[in-house]
This record gives sequence, structure tokens and C-alpha cells, in this order.
Amino acid sequence: MQIRLIAGNWKMNGTSDSLREITPVIEATMEFHSAVLICTPFTLIDRAITHVRGSRVTIGAQDCHPEAKGPHTGDVSAQMLAEIGATHVITGHSERRQHHRETNALVRDKATSALDAGLVPIVCVGETQRDRDAGKALDIVSGQVRESLPDVPQSGSVVVAYEPVWAIGTGRTPSLGDIAEMHAHIRRLLVEKFPGSRGGRQTPILYGGSVTANNAAEIFSAANVDGGLVGGASLRARDFLPICRILEQA
Ligand code: PEP
Repeated sequence: MQIRLIAGNWKMNGTSDSLREITPVIEATMEFHSAVLICTPFTLIDRAITHVRGSRVTIGAQDCHPEAKGPHTGDVSAQMLAEIGATHVITGHSERRQHHRETNALVRDKATSALDAGLVPIVCVGETQRDRDAGKALDIVSGQVRESLPDVPQSGSVVVAYEPVWAIGTGRTPSLGDIAEMHAHIRRLLVEKFPGSRGGRQTPILYGGSVTANNAAEIFSAANVDGGLVGGASLRARDFLPICRILEQA
């Protein structure tokens, strides 16, 4: 059965007080079949893991260094994240591709180090508004999928998130047809990259970009949408929980 995942990305938001936003999510998702993940800032990961212990909710990170250790001031490795109990790490989020000039090759190295450490990488791909206007959205995403994903023969432990850059934090979303077209395209690329029965066919593909309780039901109804990566609406339980429930019922 296909894994369905709802992942919150808190970005650079949250202090100790914010952990209380996770409590209602823990309580409401105890019987869920879908996986529920919250990627907090590095500073909260350890405490968040203690907070969710014994529940369905797991905690992930938003980035990692491609190497396991060494002279990289300010960086955190996948191995360090795994050691404290994180389960996933986002790699290649468009904010890192844009603001930190991360290339597909670097994203792939980070994702590979995550797999080596026993974490599930959530590899983000997505076109800019300019790419879409120029009719290049499918091509750009093809390159990102081919070059940013690790070369693992079995892809069950990799997640892909399609996040059109122009939809992140803007309140704008693609049409359902555009989402379905891109997810079908990514599915074909994944099957090509990871053939075999437990390969690309099983790799969860999340949609991300201005998901809210108002549009989640429609978005999650599209073929090949196996869940969501949620930024702004993941910060408060009152916004995030309805989205988790919608995925569970989809
Ligand atoms: C994100 O940053 O991954 C994201 C999808 O943000 P938002 O939901 O706020 O658009």
C-alpha cells in the first residue's frame, strides 16, 4: 500500500513554547494510518522528539550537511540528526536552492548522506514562475528529479516533494490539472529511475505550496498526490490538524 505522509515545515519559526502546538496533533492522530511528520528548526528537534515519544508523530529536520562530520562550522550532519532520533530530513527546499545556491548535485549528496544515516530524505523539486511562463516547468523538474535524487536501487526510503516555487507562501496554487500533470510526470521519472516492484511506483510524491484546510481535499484527491508538505499552515495546530485529517480521509 502506498505510504501517505503529511509533513510540516516550520522553517525558521518556533521557540520552546511552540512545542505545545504539537500536543493536539499527537492526540488527534493516534489512530491514523497516514504518517505525520513535523520538521522543526534544529534547536527544537531534540525536545520535540521527547514531546512526541509514543505517538504517531515523528520529527524531522529541514537540512543537513552532505558529510558525516568535519570542519563545517554551523552545519549539522544527517548522522547527528539520526543519533537524536529524527526520522526525515528535507533536502533541496527551494529556499535553500535560492538563498544558499544549492545545486542538484549538492542536494543529491545531502539526500545520499541522509539515506546512509538511516534517515528518509524528502527531496524538493519545483519550477519558478518564470520557468512555468516559459513552458519549461516539466523540463526543469525532470532535471531536478534526475539529478537531485540519490542512486538507490530501492526507493522506498525516499520521498519527493513537488513544490512550485511561485506557490510557496504566496497563497497561490496550481490548477488541479497542473498538479496532476506534474505528479504523473514525476511518477514516470521515478519509475524510470527506480524500476522494480518496490521502486518508483511506491515512492511517495508530496505536493507543497500554500496548502490549507480549504484546498487540501481537492489537492489530495489528485492522482499521484501521496500527501503534502505544509509550511505556514503547519505552525498552529488549529490550521495543521484539519489538513492532517483531510489526508487521512482522502
Ligand atoms: C514550504 O515551505 O515547504 C511550503 C510549502 O510553504 P507554504 O505551505 O507556506 O507555502
